[in-house]
Amino acid sequence: MKTLDDFNFKDKKALIRVDFNVPLNENLEVTDTTRIQAAKPTIMKVLEDGGSAVLMSHLGRPKGVEEKYSLKHIVKTITNILGVQVKFVENCVGDAAEKAVAELQNGEILLLENLRFHPEEKAGDKKFAEQLSKLGDIYVNDAFGTAHRAHASTTVIAQFFPENKSFGLLLAREIESLKKVLEESEKPVTAILGGSKVSSKITVIENILDKVDHLIIGGGMSFTFIKALGGKVGNSICEDDKQQLALDILKQAEDKGVKVHLPIDVIAADSFSNDANTQIVDIKNIPDGWEGLDAGPKTNIGFSFVIAQSKTILWNGPVGVFEMEKFAKGTIELGNAIADATADGAFSLVGGGDSVAAVKQFGFADKVSYVSTGGGAMLEMLEGKTLPGIDAILN
Ligand code: AMP
Repeated sequence: MKTLDDFNFKDKKALIRVDFNVPLNENLEVTDTTRIQAAKPTIMKVLEDGGSAVLMSHLGRPKGVEEKYSLKHIVKTITNILGVQVKFVENCVGDAAEKAVAELQNGEILLLENLRFHPEEKAGDKKFAEQLSKLGDIYVNDAFGTAHRAHASTTVIAQFFPENKSFGLLLAREIESLKKVLEESEKPVTAILGGSKVSSKITVIENILDKVDHLIIGGGMSFTFIKALGGKVGNSICEDDKQQLALDILKQAEDKGVKVHLPIDVIAADSFSNDANTQIVDIKNIPDGWEGLDAGPKTNIGFSFVIAQSKTILWNGPVGVFEMEKFAKGTIELGNAIADATADGAFSLVGGGDSVAAVKQFGFADKVSYVSTGGGAMLEMLEGKTLPGIDAILN
């Protein structure tokens, strides 16, 4: 696999697909700069070699050209983070873009306007990709968040750089971290899956059963398993039509020698609210009118015990409604257990939108081995799929 270090960018223009799809507030200010920070090492490597960087990204889901989705709003933030004045051009293809690139000097950075102002981007249009390809000597993909999409700038463009294409440092780290969990993992391997629904994680579960020793199932999705096993789940979130599926998964796990850990007790609430009355109950016996919104104390001890023995840990999905303070304890204790195991030498990977939000909110981000930046892309890799953006660089 060719990486950025195989290239010297002296006097070269690197055309870098970054993921600057950052959240903006109503004043169009960037509220979370994680994705820009994450792209910095790749951009700086190009500049330090003595080359220049042409950055392309999408922002939001514009329908045609929409002012509020213009990347010009984030130029100041990128400039501050990179410490280099970023130039901007109001189109990502065509004469203006080509002229701006031609004028770009070594050590300079140019940001192109939102790729998705052109519907050809998402359509994976070959002509559009070819137009983009004129804007650099070497193509670098550093956008893990869109690596599962066969868009013009993430996949189709790579064919115009048969020799001169590379993963960026961020994308390379994402791939290596997932490989460490899925292929080169040290045993025992534990996967923790939480979140609201079994249905959205089913393919992930089926794929990782071949790779893990322990599977912890927590959060909203556990109730489908508990009910399928004959438990009473009250008003808890539950996918009745997935009960047979849940039983099939437990059977598959048993056949493969995977130990499945379900919650033992829950914090049950009389309404879906931070002001609700709560009680700790046996997860198989949740009273009518009550719903389980967080893992109970016995569950937390049990999950932590499994995690403490693990050498490789994968975490996707919270084990409670952590957005409400009253129901955050289970997710915090789980994060603490993973942080402790990591300090003891385990490799831990956290990924998927909500667990990433949780590790950041509760301050675990630097206490785990790796926090993945791409929710959907990571889930597809866990499902065992080949991502088109990765494949386009490899082949
Ligand atoms: P997902 O997007 O499937 O990973 O689900 C994440 C969401 O699951 C978070 O917003 C959590 O609040 C929610 N969640 C976790 N546990 C529960 C639960 N016991 N009941 C309802 N929602 C839950």
